[in-house]
Amino acid sequence: MIQDIKSLYPEELVSIAREMGGKDFQGKQLFQWLHQKQVDSYEAMTNLSKAMRRQLEKDYPLLVLQPESTQISALDGTRKYLYAMEDGQKVESVWMQYQHGDSVCISSQAGCRMGCRFCASAIGGLVRNLTAGEMLEQVYAAGREAGRRVSHTVVMGTGEPLDNYSQLVRFVRILSHEQGMNMSQRNITVSTCGIVPQIYELTKEKLQITLALSLHGATDEKRQALMPIAKKYSLAEVMEACDFYFQNTGRRITYEYSLIGGVNDTDEDAAQLAGLLRRRNCHLNLIPVNPVEERDFQPPVGKDADKFKIKLEKYGINVTIRREMGRDIDGACGQLRRRFSAQREAEREK
Ligand code: SAH
Repeated sequence: MIQDIKSLYPEELVSIAREMGGKDFQGKQLFQWLHQKQVDSYEAMTNLSKAMRRQLEKDYPLLVLQPESTQISALDGTRKYLYAMEDGQKVESVWMQYQHGDSVCISSQAGCRMGCRFCASAIGGLVRNLTAGEMLEQVYAAGREAGRRVSHTVVMGTGEPLDNYSQLVRFVRILSHEQGMNMSQRNITVSTCGIVPQIYELTKEKLQITLALSLHGATDEKRQALMPIAKKYSLAEVMEACDFYFQNTGRRITYEYSLIGGVNDTDEDAAQLAGLLRRRNCHLNLIPVNPVEERDFQPPVGKDADKFKIKLEKYGINVTIRREMGRDIDGACGQLRRRFSAQREAEREK
């Protein structure tokens, strides 16, 4: 297997430098070249010997992502990128401009095996996990394309990050490393459908990242109808794990709730959701569902999403409706990658 050098910690690069007959500090320099200066070739690493650069080139081919397709929103400048990994797997990321800085939404897997009913990424199942380096490159590439620093990262693209746990933790530690890009952990959000044991594991890592929990239903019954994972872990177990994360890290949980017209947006749903979150120090993010072609879910009609929000505010919940970015450049999450594979299938049939 080809080693992905961008997935390695500084101490691991020190071992590589040693094996190549170099000094320990050269391993650290290598880390800086890869993650702080983010150069696109070993050639550019001018303080490493020519011999070492040649050896690295041979043993550790450098992954430098170039977008295969770019869509730019005419509405808000959001950019959606599609990349091809070394093995041809397609991965998408989204770059967004906010008042607080530029944010990149990255994918953590090629495909996903969680099977959420309303999600486009679930349709083709899981192909493989992405490496930490492949996740980092999505952030770096977006910054290169924009020509400015990315200040925030959300792991909310294709895939379930806690189903790719060890690479996700590497990704967070390298992205926030002071000898690397040095992104504040507080500016990194990881979204999960609620894999309970991994939420406990993540708590132990003592990271300062924000955990976002995809709720989408306020009862076991409602959640189970939308998310297969809810059959494995009860709502009570998920909430307990989230409370544990908050108590031990001091980081407030963001609960995500995709609003689906006629499915989870009734008065009763609002009351149950409020009952669940009321005594918790948390934030609720409402996301009007993006219709996916293969699914028949629709967002709430007219002002229903606003009404749902107001109801929750009346219960004292800290709630926002997620501003839809780049509505014109693609619909639901995972649709760009999905469209690509649909196109490929059509081409094969020809
Ligand atoms: N697997 C992780 C992260 C990826 S999905 C998770 O489940 O949290 C990121 C968020 O987008 C999740 O809250 C997910 O439920 C939501 N989502 C997926 N498809 C959507 C759609 N069609 N419309 C609105 N939100 C969607």
